[in-house]
Amino acid sequence: MRSYAESIALYEKTRKHLAGGVSSNVRYASVPVPLFFARGEGARLHDVDGNVHIDYVLGNGPAILGHAPKKVIDAVAASLGEGQLFAAQNPRETELAERLCALLPGADVVRFSTSGTEAVLMAFRLARAFTGRDKILKFEGHYHGWSDQAYISARPPLNEAGPADTPVPVAGSPGMPPSVLGDVAVCTWNDLDLLEQTLERHRGQIAAVIMEPIMVNGGAIPPAPGYLEGVRALCDKHGTLFICDEVITGFRVGLRGAQGKFGVTADLSIYAKAVAAGFPLAMVAGRRDIMDTLLDKGVMHGGTYNGNVQSMAAALAALDVLEADDGKVYRDLEARGTELMQGLSALARKHKLPVLVQGMPAIFQTFFTKGPAPRNYRESAACDRDAMLAFHAALQEEGVRSQQAGKWFLSTAHDKPVIEETLAAADRAMAKVA
Ligand code: PLP
Repeated sequence: MRSYAESIALYEKTRKHLAGGVSSNVRYASVPVPLFFARGEGARLHDVDGNVHIDYVLGNGPAILGHAPKKVIDAVAASLGEGQLFAAQNPRETELAERLCALLPGADVVRFSTSGTEAVLMAFRLARAFTGRDKILKFEGHYHGWSDQAYISARPPLNEAGPADTPVPVAGSPGMPPSVLGDVAVCTWNDLDLLEQTLERHRGQIAAVIMEPIMVNGGAIPPAPGYLEGVRALCDKHGTLFICDEVITGFRVGLRGAQGKFGVTADLSIYAKAVAAGFPLAMVAGRRDIMDTLLDKGVMHGGTYNGNVQSMAAALAALDVLEADDGKVYRDLEARGTELMQGLSALARKHKLPVLVQGMPAIFQTFFTKGPAPRNYRESAACDRDAMLAFHAALQEEGVRSQQAGKWFLSTAHDKPVIEETLAAADRAMAKVA
C-alpha cells in the first residue's frame, strides 16, 4: 500500500491557515486527502511521500507539454529579469496576438486575460453590449468557470434540474444570488430540436449561446455529426452570438482547437490552459466588430495581471513547440492517445468490466456503463460513479493519476514507454476492481 502520511499531515497543518486546506475546491477530488506534490517532471509527479505518479491530470489540462517543459521554462527564466507587470503594454503581447490571430479560426483580434473564468465573463459582457440583449443560453453539464453568472447547471442534481426538454437553471453554489438565474436559459446539449425550441421560447432575448464544443467537463462527449453546424445556423437565424469555450479543447485537440477539427467558427472563442503550457493566461478571440465594443462602446475589461511578461514568454515558447514541423506534436499526441484509449478498452474486455472509453486522444473519459455512449449530461450522470471512483483509487495505488471523475489528459511527455507502463498499471488496477 502506498503511504500518504506526509500529505495527510500537511493537509491537517494547512487547514489551520489556508481556508479548507486548498486553494481551489476542485482539489477535494482526491484520495485520501488533497495530495501535496513536491515536483513535476515530464509525465510524472512526485508527491511529498515519495510516491511517483504518471500524471493524466496535468493541472486539469494546461500541461500539454508535460511538467516543467524545458523550452518554456527557459523562455520564462530568460524573461524574469525584465520585470513582470508594467500597468502598460509589453512588446511580447503584440507578437503573441499577431501569431494567435494568424492561427485561430475566427480570430480577427484577441484580448488577454488571466483565468478562464474571467475570459468567460468578458465574452458575456461583450455579447450583451453588442446585441443589446441580457440572456445567455448555456447547456447542462458544461462548465464555464465558477462565477455567479456561469456556474449554473454545471453539474445540477437531477431532482432539481427539471425535465430534460425544459431544464431549469440551477445555481451551483451557496452564495449565488437567485437573480442571476433569470439571465440564463439552460438547454440539453447535442439536440438541435431542443435548442431551436429554447431559442424560440426566449425569442429576441438571447445575447449568446455558449458551449464547450466537445463537452469535456460532462464526460469528453463529442458533438453529434452536424450539431455544431446546426448551432451555428440557429444562432445566425436568431441574431444570437455563438461562443465556443475552448478553455480545455484549445491547443489540445489540435493547434486550432475543436473549431479547427470540426470546421465550425464561433463569433467569440475563449482559450486558456494549454495556450501557455502551465502559466496563467486566458483570452477571448473573435470578430473585430464585437471586440471593437471594448473601445467604441467603452465595454469594460480589466485585470492587473493580464498580458504579464512571463505568461507572454511562456505562450510564445509553447507556440514555437506546438507549431513546429507542421503540427507533428499533435500527430504524435493523437497516436499515443489512441494507443492508450484502445489499450484501456482491450483491458476492460479482458477483465469483463463495463468500461467505455470516449473522447479525443488528447482528452478522453473512462465511464463505467453497460448502456450506449452518453450524449449529454443526464446520460453521463447515469453512469456508475462508484465504480469509477474505485477504479481511480486502484489506478492511483498502481502509480497512475487520472481525474477522479474519469477524465484523462495527455501531454507530449507521455511517450510510448509511459503509455506501456500506464497500460500495465491499468491491467493490475482493473484486476483489483473486477
Ligand atoms: N471553461 C472551461 C471549459 C473549463 O474547463 C474551465 C476550467 O476548468 C473554465 C472555463 C474556467 O477556467 P479557470 O479555471 O482558468 O478559471
